[in-house]
Amino acid sequence: MNIDFAARGILTGLVVAGLTAISTPAQAEENDLVNATLWTQTSVEFKATSLAAYKLAEIMLDRALEDKNWTAATEQGEAYQEKPVAVILDVDETVLDNTAYEAWLIKANASYSSKTWAPYVNSAISKPIAGSKEFIDYARSKGVEIFYVSNRKAGEEEGTRKNLVDLGYYVNDKIDTILVRGEKEEWGSDKTSRRAYVAKDYRVALIIGDNLGDFVEARDATVADRAALIDTYNDYWSTKWITVANPMYGSWEAATFGYDFKLPNDEKRKMKLDAMEYWEPKE
Ligand SMILES: [Mg+2]
Repeated sequence: MNIDFAARGILTGLVVAGLTAISTPAQAEENDLVNATLWTQTSVEFKATSLAAYKLAEIMLDRALEDKNWTAATEQGEAYQEKPVAVILDVDETVLDNTAYEAWLIKANASYSSKTWAPYVNSAISKPIAGSKEFIDYARSKGVEIFYVSNRKAGEEEGTRKNLVDLGYYVNDKIDTILVRGEKEEWGSDKTSRRAYVAKDYRVALIIGDNLGDFVEARDATVADRAALIDTYNDYWSTKWITVANPMYGSWEAATFGYDFKLPNDEKRKMKLDAMEYWEPKE
């Protein structure tokens, strides 16, 4: 198996050295993003999964509205029962579908970089995740405020706003409800302080996201730590916290290589392969 990994590394090295401008199917086969992006962009199964998540969100929102003690934010604090109700949604791969960017990464044999991500975001061409707009319209019909809490950066807020508005999403035009990374000094990539900011003035009925950090602080959590959070927050999953599937990227992937983003891709890939359990057929 190690020989196979080494061969992949050499092959990737040759490809990077000589053929960066041309993408061939052989190169694409080496890229972990292919099946994940293809599934997310083309499959009816992904669309149906997203519709299911947002239909569940409507049902749970009704429950939340009937029960003033209900809150989805672990940051909620005291005396929240009479506050106006809000929903917190992540943006990328929760409301907006960025599979065109991921597909471009495959074609260009490139890795995610803020240098290419910023112009993509500011082009405002992301598509809607199935069911998300309908859910937001439903929540608005019940008088619920909508907060978009995204790790897009401050310089990408206007492109994000344009993209959402162009697609017909409700965005409050009186107060800023698009809370992006670095917009305030204390708003880092950990979303805890932004959830607390919303929870200060609102009762948070639901949190909807594709990444563990959208719901709870889980920085540097190992695969095992993350698995344990299913039990720890048993009362939240699929009731107060609604997940949208993202097989393309996220902290689930980074946990398998210890969040060491600077590792070479072949090293990351080996750690990902090592993170899986394997069936051993009997001879
Ligand atoms: Mg996301």
